[in-house]
Amino acid sequence: MAAISSVLSAPAPKHDKLKALGILALNGMFDEMDAEAVLRQAVDELLPGDIAMVSSFGADSAVLLHLVSLVDKNLPVYFLETGKHFVETLDYVETLKQRLGLTNVIALYPDSADLARFDPDGTLWETDPDSCCHIRKTEPLEDVLSGYGGWVTGRKRFQTAERGVLPHFELTSDDRIKVNPLAYFTNEDVEAYKARHDLPEHPLYGEGYKSIGCAPCTSAVAEGEDPRAGRWRGRDKRECGIHFDFNGSIAKPVSQSSLHLFKDGAFKADPWKAWAEGDEPADVRYTHVPVSVFVEHRAAFLASPHPIGLQVNPGEKVEDIEGDLARFSSVAINFRAFTDGRGYSSARLLRERFGYEGELRAVGDVLTDQIPFMRRCGIDAFVVTNKATREALEKDALAEVPLYYQPIGERHEVPAGTRPFLRRPE
Ligand code: SF4
Repeated sequence: MAAISSVLSAPAPKHDKLKALGILALNGMFDEMDAEAVLRQAVDELLPGDIAMVSSFGADSAVLLHLVSLVDKNLPVYFLETGKHFVETLDYVETLKQRLGLTNVIALYPDSADLARFDPDGTLWETDPDSCCHIRKTEPLEDVLSGYGGWVTGRKRFQTAERGVLPHFELTSDDRIKVNPLAYFTNEDVEAYKARHDLPEHPLYGEGYKSIGCAPCTSAVAEGEDPRAGRWRGRDKRECGIHFDFNGSIAKPVSQSSLHLFKDGAFKADPWKAWAEGDEPADVRYTHVPVSVFVEHRAAFLASPHPIGLQVNPGEKVEDIEGDLARFSSVAINFRAFTDGRGYSSARLLRERFGYEGELRAVGDVLTDQIPFMRRCGIDAFVVTNKATREALEKDALAEVPLYYQPIGERHEVPAGTRPFLRRPE
């Protein structure tokens, strides 16, 4: 310990001191230290006046905020006021401020021009959560944190597999330090700490909300479930973007070109994935399950509370699951080859005979020439990987179909092959 003190008390500027120490050495020195000592070293010794904290004021935020109150009640604590929080969370901010005597809690708001431009109706969280987190969390925070040499986070190793190797100190690519005093805390440690210091619970904790973020993206978890399973449930998303990059810069939202689902006139984020070998029927969610797999495990799928979809492969019969169609919020018809027309028949059966009203999407060999015909059969979403098709959809330049050989639905259509003057669609 004497050696550590002498290194830390060397009269070097704070950033140089950190660089001289090196992040590995830093972690080695403080590996055995408890959370309060790690925080105290960061705030008092390594980055005095140059470090801030970000808190979600969520289910276990009280522990780190209590540690902050022991070390420096005036440490800047930033709270991302996304405009999407539970009312209970906003109440909890005030409760903890009063109870812990925190004097420097600062709310950060998203840029109003960004909200007006990218999320005018407040539903971006549903269609593109990465971008929603970006404008509500990452950008406001980036502006503020660029003014600090380091920041304190409440992340813990046990929370997700991605965080399993989390150290006490991380160096970002722009030479800033992330300090994780609770990295080694287990769930039991958190509970014991809260009980020892009689810390108030988040009002929703007792209702099964074990990890709490914005209201639309947070759900309660079942007994024994991963505490973070209720965050972005059913989505392929685990972090809000702020903590995503382990060593480097703050993560950016997904690019438009990486989106393949075309629906309602635009490419958007797709929460659905395809069934994979080894998937468990009782556990999958937002997964398109092939008809044959659904039939084989029908009881398990019907008992599952999770949203599931259906995938209809060439040769599979939608008639086989007619009575269970209400179970699926999305049906994917697999056009394995553009020459195979069986998908059109499946789509028409679903829409016209069975009255299916959920999302009906085309996957597989989805090409520009086929899309107008797919639409005629009731398909309203398209997973597109073909470059030319993508460009045609983006430019709204799909070819018109002036003649139909097969009438559909209840529209009055005269098929080609009859007299020419009768062939025009209505
Ligand atoms: S957690 Fe949900 S509502 Fe909050 S910023 Fe992210 S996507 Fe938007």
